[in-house]
Amino acid sequence: MSTQTYLTGFSRIGEHRELKKALEQYWSGKISFPELEELSKKLRAKHWTEQSGQKIDYISSNDFSYYDTMLDTSIMINAIPERFRDLSQYEDIYFSMARGNASSTAMEMTKWFNTNYHYIVPELDKRTPFQANINKIRTEYREAKELGIQSKINLIGPITYTGLSKSLDTSDPFDYYESILETYVKVIQEISELDDSIILQIDEPILVKDPAPKLLDLIIQTYNTLASVSTKIKIIVMTYFEQASEAVPLLSQTPIWGIGLDFIHGKDNLQSLSSIGDKVLVAGIIDGRNIWISHYDEALKLIESIREQVPHNKLLLSTSCSLLHVPYSLRNEPQEAPIKQWLAFGVEKLKELVLLKAILENDNTSETKAALEENRNIHKNKLVSSLIHNDKVQQRVSKEGNRDREGNFHERIQLQRQQFNLPSLPTTTIGSFPQTKELRKIRRDYKKKLITKEVYESSLKQYIKECVEFQEEIDLDVLVHGEPERNDMVEYFGELLEGFHFTSNGWVQSYGSRCVKPPIIYGDISRPKAMTVEWISYAQSLTKRIMKGMLTGPVTIINWSFVRNDLSRELISQQIALALSDEVRDLQEAGIKIIQVDEAAFKEGYPLRKKNIKSYEDWAVKGFKLTVSTAHKETQIHTHMCYSAFNDIIETIEAMDADVITIETARSGNRLLKVFRDSQYKKEIGPGVYDIHSPRVPSVQEFEDQIRERLKVLPVDQMWVNPDCGLKTRAWEEVRSALTNMVRATKRIRSSGD
Ligand code: GLN
Ligand code: ZN
Repeated sequence: MSTQTYLTGFSRIGEHRELKKALEQYWSGKISFPELEELSKKLRAKHWTEQSGQKIDYISSNDFSYYDTMLDTSIMINAIPERFRDLSQYEDIYFSMARGNASSTAMEMTKWFNTNYHYIVPELDKRTPFQANINKIRTEYREAKELGIQSKINLIGPITYTGLSKSLDTSDPFDYYESILETYVKVIQEISELDDSIILQIDEPILVKDPAPKLLDLIIQTYNTLASVSTKIKIIVMTYFEQASEAVPLLSQTPIWGIGLDFIHGKDNLQSLSSIGDKVLVAGIIDGRNIWISHYDEALKLIESIREQVPHNKLLLSTSCSLLHVPYSLRNEPQEAPIKQWLAFGVEKLKELVLLKAILENDNTSETKAALEENRNIHKNKLVSSLIHNDKVQQRVSKEGNRDREGNFHERIQLQRQQFNLPSLPTTTIGSFPQTKELRKIRRDYKKKLITKEVYESSLKQYIKECVEFQEEIDLDVLVHGEPERNDMVEYFGELLEGFHFTSNGWVQSYGSRCVKPPIIYGDISRPKAMTVEWISYAQSLTKRIMKGMLTGPVTIINWSFVRNDLSRELISQQIALALSDEVRDLQEAGIKIIQVDEAAFKEGYPLRKKNIKSYEDWAVKGFKLTVSTAHKETQIHTHMCYSAFNDIIETIEAMDADVITIETARSGNRLLKVFRDSQYKKEIGPGVYDIHSPRVPSVQEFEDQIRERLKVLPVDQMWVNPDCGLKTRAWEEVRSALTNMVRATKRIRSSGD
């Protein structure tokens, strides 16, 4: 066997988001479940033929999902929480687990490792009725086979599954591991009956985190057991997103067939190859997380160094992870997009794999040669392209990239307090007000040039005016303009900065039917002109109260974009930060006294391995500080972070040196807040007291209780009162009553004097 091509997994949502559309039609009752099944079957067939058409050697089944593959795994082992067990139809159980129903709340959802994909968190307890159910696997395997494809079957491994679960009645989900493993054995037994010989890809990405000894201990037992179930089954244990060095020597002692390693995001995996033994290696050599074309010469060099340690006939070339994390295909992007030649989405990555294989096989056809030559040229030209490189920006970064703000917190806060003269427990909001249908339509119409700039601006100004009047009416202390001009907090700035590209169809699944279209940072970043000053100044002109300026910080912009790979994140962050620091200066000159720099995605960008954390924190903090380096001592800098556990990062938060931080605490109570007290954090904090993810409007009494609860942890002169996050997804009626109640409750506490 010569070197072959392998695909970890493929898109599920579809080239034109067909699955999203079908799901939404099904949820709204427009199509039946059998119709949804039929549409999904067609979609799978299309995805398989896309791969077999390219002659990919190893193609997956069971990488499809109606909602999420962790949820599918819960169904596969029958880990159905009690509240859903009474439902009789499979589809009702499945979608209720994902989305809740009239009587039961949905299962929790959280981020899949360091990606922006979210999975449904399994719930385990003593009564979980574990049982094997391979219906989905069987159906998909047979469908592929009918199309002439002998698919490998993808499963999420038991160690990862359990490690990402929560136990409802013990402190550790691994208390249920024995039963889980037994169920996997049954699953594999049943799978072995499907065919004479089957390859199973078992994903264990949890093994790339700094592995807990407990997890490592499970490897040998688990894979000795699973690989011995049937001689008809060959198991590949797949890892991705980082190196799996500690796991490799253990896995190689078990009778599995192969190991999958990511050489793009886990460069150190090269060192683990010496302990891979006689296993087949699935080598992730094409980036499954980013959208840039491969550099063939570099990829070939990498493959060469792998081949020094792994025999040719034991090497399968693959993407670094499932292609679920990149958009479907470039063919839906306009031809004239200047950066198109540098991009490779899912389908294009398949072609790259096949081409690399051809080169390795010494395929000397003119086509292969031409492709290699073209790839070299593109990279050569890219190195000097004026689309990307801007000397001025680079020089500015080297000169000003380490600037810092004047004064220390103690000095600054005194000046600010004197100047603002705010009451104790100042009230504010996080930025956005409800994004109504009308507002979206105005933005859309303006983009399509259906309305003039004048009509657009006056409609938005009208909205801002209403927001300001409302906030004055309910007597909030620090006001916001409501963000009506922003569709998305990253997209808005990306569109106004140089160096960003927006795709027409670059959708990536975020959760369930939800997709996002991340911007692409391709070039040096600069700010042609002020981005927010006009809106904020207009809002300020309507009121004597303080109007907060509102910006998105560099870390969040980077974490929610596809980022160029020819420059370090540190430099990219410095470029964005310098552009934003000009905005801070301009806002300040326009008379804005408080400026908030949102870092909603600060925590989620943390690396999977401890050894990489320091360098992340260094550039992240540096980027934030550079952004606000133009702020005078009198200008108060706020930052906002969404739901995050701050325990491990409190020193980093401190180092960011924001005067005020607002965070999400309405659901978690004081749990997240205590660390601020315990670490003697002295700066001001706005712990959220209104859960903006719920349509519920808390009463004045509930708000009062929430605030008093927070005051058990925070001194009164350190605390602000605000909602958890922006209000853009809420309805006006809810926001009106909730904020009115929030202010009333605050006043009650102020006047009670305790
Ligand atoms: N200022 C933003 C808003 O209010 C913050 C959003 C966020 O934290 N995700 O919408
Ligand atoms: Zn938030």
